[in-house]
Amino acid sequence: MKVLVATEKPFAKIAVDGIKKEIEGAGFELALLEKYTDKAQLLDAVKDANAIIIRSDIIDAEVLEAAKELKIVVRAGAGYDNVDLNAATAHGVCVMNTPGQNSNAVAELVFGLLVYAVRNFYNGTSGTELMGKKLGIHAYGNVGRNVARIAKGFGMELYAYDAFCPKDVIEKDGVKAVDSAEELYKICNIVSLHIPATAETKNSINRDLLKNMPKGAILVNTARKEVINEDELIQLMEERPDFKYITDIMPAANAKFTELFAGRYFSTPKKMGAQTAEANINAGIAAAKQIVGFLKEGCEKFRVNK
Ligand code: NAD
Repeated sequence: MKVLVATEKPFAKIAVDGIKKEIEGAGFELALLEKYTDKAQLLDAVKDANAIIIRSDIIDAEVLEAAKELKIVVRAGAGYDNVDLNAATAHGVCVMNTPGQNSNAVAELVFGLLVYAVRNFYNGTSGTELMGKKLGIHAYGNVGRNVARIAKGFGMELYAYDAFCPKDVIEKDGVKAVDSAEELYKICNIVSLHIPATAETKNSINRDLLKNMPKGAILVNTARKEVINEDELIQLMEERPDFKYITDIMPAANAKFTELFAGRYFSTPKKMGAQTAEANINAGIAAAKQIVGFLKEGCEKFRVNK
């Protein structure tokens, strides 16, 4: 069995060593395609692969068509919107992610961004504190739960809304579970986004939702740019000079945000939430273990296509 690691942006060497140990220890062969610059290289490399580990790499219908021997794709990370799930199902390919492996890294970045924002991007002027502020966690999954844990240390008042997580699961963490996204945004000074990009959530963070946030509101996005209705966010920020937007996922209209909202808009230069040595190693090794479990024992835990 051949396991391909196909990463345009490679894993750290220590993560590759860990993946190699898992894969070869199970008696499989490991192949590496790193820093590829052309889709043709990926199409060629997948031809005889039985399993693929990817990061943000695009696995679309064309790649799946070229990968005749493929049984499983594991996205080392949480979001799997870079994989065409319907095409994978049509080709009989199992798709998994590695939930939870980078959640602490993303949650820590939320607070890096928040402290930067409330201290006015370190411009020398007097800012505000996080202690006592109402923080809304929009989606209480792996990242959301880590955000709650860290926020307690800052002395914040915590609220969360999740469309699928039962309220008692949220409340046992000392977080107030609210009934709707609308309620969350009305109550909270700061909202941190952790919803996945799905047909339902794309463009869902819009003016209607944001306009009722209290004065001095901050929206922090470490989820996906697609969940934001950018035109309406721009409109809202024009109407509300008190509103700040900070994000780990650069908007398509980054130039416009930068030009219009100096001092209350910030984006990391590239998605950095999961860019830590620890997250890199954890997610890569988890992906390798999941592949071994699937190929040896048919274990489908963490399968995301049905
Ligand atoms: P997760 O799957 O553990 O949690 C997602 C949560 O969203 C679940 O609890 C689910 O019930 C909830 N949810 C789904 N649809 C919803 C909806 N319509 N309304 C409200 N809640 C909804 O995922 P996670 O590990 O917490 O990651 C969350 C997202 O963060 C990922 O989907 C990914 O897009 C993004 N992410 C970004 C980075 C980064 O580098 N910035 C890294 C990891 C994850």
